[in-house]
Amino acid sequence: MIPIRQEFINDAIKEAFTLEDSNIHNNNIDRKHEFLQQIILNNNFLTNEEKSEATRILNVRYDRDRILFINNGGKKICKLCKLERLCAMHCENCIRIYLETNFSNWTSGNNNVDDLIKRCQRKSLAPHMVVEWIPYNNLQNIKYLKKGGYSDIYTADWIGGRYIEWDFQQRELIRFGTHEVILKRLVNIESANRSWFEEAESHLTIGSKWVDIVPCYGITLDPSTNDYMLVLHKMDNDLRTHLRQNHNKLTWKKEFKS
Ligand SMILES: [Zn+2]
Ligand SMILES: [Zn+2]
Repeated sequence: MIPIRQEFINDAIKEAFTLEDSNIHNNNIDRKHEFLQQIILNNNFLTNEEKSEATRILNVRYDRDRILFINNGGKKICKLCKLERLCAMHCENCIRIYLETNFSNWTSGNNNVDDLIKRCQRKSLAPHMVVEWIPYNNLQNIKYLKKGGYSDIYTADWIGGRYIEWDFQQRELIRFGTHEVILKRLVNIESANRSWFEEAESHLTIGSKWVDIVPCYGITLDPSTNDYMLVLHKMDNDLRTHLRQNHNKLTWKKEFKS
């Protein structure tokens, strides 16, 4: 498969935003989102995988817009938790409650790491933005890739994979299924006076809020060295994402109708 050309995706998104005139959509972010998506789908220059990645980025922006511009998006009351929810495709309160109920079912073995993950999970906005403790056993086929900055980078298969959607019927987060990820060994960088924990903290807290960087799925511990490792998004594995996104749209519509 041809690797995803991230710079073309970025250009296509910028171009779509340029074509989008806020006057046309009267600042209605739902219609604006549909318009942007259509521009990407009509872009003959991008491969299907690249369109899929561009759509993923647009979806996350859309969620962020809904959160930032609540008055335009229109708040909804969640039928399950009875709280106001901001997002179109899920309820961020239900997700947080679900994650908190699971706090007693995992530990990283380090109180600071546990607290960091819990802090991020209590602020989770969307399934694809949840960071979590990832048991090392769930990472298989680990291969050394390269030296990145100060630390070693690996590829691995994440059994089960990341969260992709909220199931309103079953009241649980649904996983994507096994996919490749990047592992980055966390080390103290003495020359920069930066501890491994500070790096973990910045990746997890920024990653769970912001979308224009490589998404971080969480942390694992390599038991052979006792090093913590970041589990990061790998760019070129996204053919199935497209199918999943369509599935996502279907469950979204279903929820709206009920
Ligand atoms: Zn959302
Ligand atoms: Zn809810």
